[in-house]
Amino acid sequence: AAERTHRRWRGAGGTSDGHPVKLLANVGSAADAKSALEAGAAGSGLFRTEFCFLDAATEPSEAAQRAAYAEVLRPFAGKPVVVRTLDAGADKPLPFLESAAEPNPALGVRGLRIAFEHPGVLDRQLAAIVSAAAETGAEVSVMAPMVATPDEAAWFAERARAAGASRAGVMVETPAAALCAEELLAEVDFASIGTNDLAQYTCAADRMTGALAALNDPWQPALLRLIAALGRAAGELGKPVGVCGEAAADPALAGVLVGLGVSSLSMTAAALPAVGAALAEHALPDWQRAAEAAIGAGGAAGARERANAALRD
Ligand code: PEP
Ligand code: MG
Repeated sequence: AAERTHRRWRGAGGTSDGHPVKLLANVGSAADAKSALEAGAAGSGLFRTEFCFLDAATEPSEAAQRAAYAEVLRPFAGKPVVVRTLDAGADKPLPFLESAAEPNPALGVRGLRIAFEHPGVLDRQLAAIVSAAAETGAEVSVMAPMVATPDEAAWFAERARAAGASRAGVMVETPAAALCAEELLAEVDFASIGTNDLAQYTCAADRMTGALAALNDPWQPALLRLIAALGRAAGELGKPVGVCGEAAADPALAGVLVGLGVSSLSMTAAALPAVGAALAEHALPDWQRAAEAAIGAGGAAGARERANAALRD
């Protein structure tokens, strides 16, 4: 099967009837960038910048940030890379951005919410990203994590454009953001669905709690419905919506996400060949039928079964 996988997937992603899907890799280091390109990624849909500074006790200077970002961006010259601004807090604490102790860190001051308290940190990071983009020739977009409202998206987009960013987008990681899909997308150039966090907030199940893994399964119909809302808004507004959470790395689910209207999938590089091959097994209308079937299920296992059955028919 692995052999067949590699033979079928030739780098350009898409369904069997030629509907294109951008297949991208998630990165956090220069080594990840190298693996991404070796695996045939068309670019990166998620550069987790906080991974560059997990041990930094103080805020890295703009010059130090520019150098760190350039190292990851350089291999992607001429290719698209979505650079996410610092996503600190909850499961990814950064020593130089620690906020007061919180009873529920996942529901606390994390992601873009830290930037509201420290806008200078965001502005210095945006400046470093824009200059690293110019230096390396990567086609860089910037994206904010943990956005809840269209107003927050507008706040970020304005700062990103003021810093000289070519494209500004947001992650959809909260049900609130997904439920306001049209108004949210109106403020930005694109959105990317972070299914890891969106799953935990949709089912109110901590992603760090193994006992709740079934509720965090990205096949949960409630999660798929939120993604469908984004896909519809993307179609209506003509703006791209991707997925950069673990859901994109599940070959059968990747096709369902495309059936819901998602136009790019960003994942760990190792998953690219299997996802690329699976997508090319069926035509877009088949994936749309599978998605529709999955959404009506009573849980994650049923959604998987219904999607499989729809593809067999
Ligand atoms: C996500 O939440 O799905 C995501 C891609 O971001 P992270 O896993 O870094 O929180
Ligand atoms: Mg997240």
